[in-house]
Amino acid sequence: MGIKILSDKLASQIAAGEVIERPASVVKELVENAIDAGATQIELEIKNAGKTLIQVSDNGHGIPNKELALAVSRHATSKLSRAEDLFDIRTLGFRGEALASIGSVAKLSLVSKHCDEKLGAELLIDGGVRGEVRPKSAPNGTVVRVENLFYNVPARLKFLKTDITESRQITGLITRYALAYPNIRWQLIQDGRVYLQTTGSGERQEILQSLFGVADAKRLLPIHFEDGDIQVEGYVSELNLTRSNRKDITLFVNGRWVHDASLTAAVIRAYNTMLMVGRFPVVVLFINIPPNEVDVNVHPSKAEVRFKNNDKVFSAVQRAIKRGLLAYTPVPDLNTAVLWGRPVEQEYSYRETQDQIHWSEKEIQSKSLPKNGQTVQNPQQPLSREYLPVLRLIGQVASTYLIAEGPDGLYLIDQHAAHERVLFEQMMSQVRAGTVPSQTLLEVSVIELTPEKAGILESQMHIMQELGFDLEHFGPNTFSLRAIPAILADGDPSEAIYAVVNAFEEDETPLQSEIEAKVAARVCKRMAIKAGQVLTDIEQKTLLLNLETCQSPRTCPHGRPTMIHISAATLERQFGRTGAI
Ligand code: ADP
Ligand code: MG
Repeated sequence: MGIKILSDKLASQIAAGEVIERPASVVKELVENAIDAGATQIELEIKNAGKTLIQVSDNGHGIPNKELALAVSRHATSKLSRAEDLFDIRTLGFRGEALASIGSVAKLSLVSKHCDEKLGAELLIDGGVRGEVRPKSAPNGTVVRVENLFYNVPARLKFLKTDITESRQITGLITRYALAYPNIRWQLIQDGRVYLQTTGSGERQEILQSLFGVADAKRLLPIHFEDGDIQVEGYVSELNLTRSNRKDITLFVNGRWVHDASLTAAVIRAYNTMLMVGRFPVVVLFINIPPNEVDVNVHPSKAEVRFKNNDKVFSAVQRAIKRGLLAYTPVPDLNTAVLWGRPVEQEYSYRETQDQIHWSEKEIQSKSLPKNGQTVQNPQQPLSREYLPVLRLIGQVASTYLIAEGPDGLYLIDQHAAHERVLFEQMMSQVRAGTVPSQTLLEVSVIELTPEKAGILESQMHIMQELGFDLEHFGPNTFSLRAIPAILADGDPSEAIYAVVNAFEEDETPLQSEIEAKVAARVCKRMAIKAGQVLTDIEQKTLLLNLETCQSPRTCPHGRPTMIHISAATLERQFGRTGAI
């Protein structure tokens, strides 16, 4: 194939690939344009996670009629003219690429009225083909409508994640921008549901609540820090509010949301040894520095920045966070052991299980058994034989494990993992039989969620019904729960709902055929008895009996072992009995 110059159309589609990766990237570009236009009100309407429609309306200064056609041309911008300006950018946009790119991969309509003009104008572009500019009466400002995104680049469509994920990206983005620009009145509607509505009063608390939920937002400490020409403000989490990943560290630099690995690392370092290994803080920071000290032109979608002086910025960020944390640290009392030592996490975590298993393994090896013996089964590896022999319960250890005797030695059973397995198999066999006994709650439980979580739950309602939850829409983002699966009757009903929502929030996108089992596994994990819970004799016996009837009793539904087996032969060998006289 000889060298050819690409057609304009193809060249634009390739260029668009850099800027417009998914619906949320379109939303980001349009919202940045509205902010640059000085809007005090921005309304977004989204359909089908942005695949069918993305409409952004603003009341900014608008585009003059004669410039409308230019606005959608490549490399056309009103925000930059000289090369020097590139290092003193005060707007979010400057590349003059977004509208042209969007127009090449969707149907784009632009209606705008400039504040100094009497009449507005309209322009349509379809897959890169530009129509005529037509006069149109409109209020001051701009309405951009993007329909059928990627209809002409099917490969892109295939790369998109599920609607839940794509829609969540949009909500997360807009909520963060609303936090960064609290003086703008924001409204986000997705498929007719209001996901975010702010007053534009400059108050951030309410927006924080929609981003993190009421309870978590209360545990965020406001910080404000200034040193010379650098300013850091925002929110940092108390030490007992942590996450298992970095996703809730949000950083804005000069009003721009950036994803900067080293800046994120600086934030985490500020917490230093105060958090458990593998736990991360919740942080929202707005960093302001003179525009000529930051290069924003290093990434096509402007998601990364480069600082003239990294150390200066990192050190300011770290001092800001440390001071903030110190200022709010309570006077030491008995509770500080909990506050500083390890997070008070109600939820039983995977890490904890693993630690406990390792601990017990180590304990056995170092105390009871000679080091050289290949004695204890690797607890990571489920034992091969599936059905369990009949077990005789001996008792409970450390309020966490059951000890039992079988025909072939000793069994140490993790009570939480075992109960998870039991609940899961009971639930799934009822679901398969199509008869899930429900238990009506004495009092209807009302569950209020953030709009994002409500959206997730709503999309899984049918599965919840199948699993035996009687759940109804009660008001915007509120659900009433009247009945739960009978086998879960002992637990806190709303816990089960949160478990499901969280599962999907962590971006679990199981195959449709597996969703039921995944949801059930999540619910059962949350509802199962915990490590550290003292069980009565009857409860211990029942658990063991139920486990014996399971089809896969040796692992929990998440694949972790429910038990460790030490055979009689092993015991004999370790005590030096084999061959002894
Ligand atoms: P950039 O933002 O990098 O300049 P865009 O392609 O996003 O490039 O927009 C091109 C131009 O169109 C902008 O420079 C601006 O003049 C105009 N424009 C786009 N959106 C709006 C809007 N919502 N309000 C006013 N002007 C706009
Ligand atoms: Mg722009």
